[in-house]
Amino acid sequence: MDSSVHLDNTVMQFGDFTAIQKTDLTIQSGEFFSFLGPSGCGKTTILNMISGFIDPTQGDVKIGGKSMRGVPANKRPTSMIFQNLALFPLMTVAENIEFGLEVRGVSKSERKKASDRLLELVALEGSGTKKVSELSGGQKQRIAIARALAVEPQVLLLDEPLSALDLKLRQHMRTELKAIQRKTGITFIYITHDQGEALTMSDRVAVMSAGRIQQVADPITLYRDPQTSFVASFVGENNGVKGRVIESNSDLVVLDCGPLGKLAGRSQGSVNVGADATLFIRPEHFRLQAESGMHSLQATIDEVNFEGAYLTLNANTATHQALSIQLGTHQFSESLKKGAPVSLSYHEQDAIVIAGEGHV
Ligand code: ATP
Repeated sequence: MDSSVHLDNTVMQFGDFTAIQKTDLTIQSGEFFSFLGPSGCGKTTILNMISGFIDPTQGDVKIGGKSMRGVPANKRPTSMIFQNLALFPLMTVAENIEFGLEVRGVSKSERKKASDRLLELVALEGSGTKKVSELSGGQKQRIAIARALAVEPQVLLLDEPLSALDLKLRQHMRTELKAIQRKTGITFIYITHDQGEALTMSDRVAVMSAGRIQQVADPITLYRDPQTSFVASFVGENNGVKGRVIESNSDLVVLDCGPLGKLAGRSQGSVNVGADATLFIRPEHFRLQAESGMHSLQATIDEVNFEGAYLTLNANTATHQALSIQLGTHQFSESLKKGAPVSLSYHEQDAIVIAGEGHV
């Protein structure tokens, strides 16, 4: 079955305000797809257009190749899980799961079969007679998933469903959600401002800022090859060093970073000689020992933190550029202390240069 979702040149305006700029995007059948971005960037608006709570001002939403224009939310092949789950607290688990089926006139025996099957899917076999109020946060979460899946949607829409859970449970539920998605093969569309959630679960992620999709890619590509300064700084931690381009070819760009010297990195997009640009280096790409072909920055240590598996350093350059550095614990030495000078080296292939002054 085609369960793809196509935002076909979709625009959403509220009065004069454009909440979603023209967007053309296809989410594949059976994909775990996330929209990731800060508060107010338009994630919920996109989900609402897909579910049918609002209709786009321009363009169309197509599900399975069919236009959804004018199709009300309850007639769309979608199901939604909200942040607050919206379970019925006084009903039993089974009654909650079967609710949507009962509304559709499905017989009692069929409903029971469905809820038994779904309880097994979410690993809560035998708890159908429990009251929802007796369940833990994680169990409620799974019941909300089971209830949303009961009506056999082609597309499951998830609006930050893990945000109310504590950290440990949230991490556990990421694995569960991913496993459920794989088992059912349903298209999952997930919105979150938590990059950890988006990166660990998704096949692809759309990073959004101010109503515009900045980049759509699989998690590894997003992390390694961010195409815009916004993505470079929003996805994972990054150090952005500003400079002026003095050399640029298809692979490599050299920046004049004033007192920090000349620094080079891979070019991302077009970067012209004479323009301002930002060199991005991830904290884990710094080394204390320079090897041939590496570039180095001089800085002064502000803080050293032992984090178990690794060390984090905060440092400052002569240009007051704050740097965040992550080192293997084996690199610890007594000389790494507040106020000490440090030479930080990196391979130019590990750094990228993006035109503009960056977001850092
Ligand atoms: P959050 O993570 O905080 O939920 P979001 O990324 O989901 O944010 P949206 O709720 O989609 O963001 O809102 C995007 C923008 O559109 C915001 O500036 C919001 O104020 C505006 N907006 C959303 N709905 C309406 C509406 N019905 N009328 C006017 N403006 C709206």
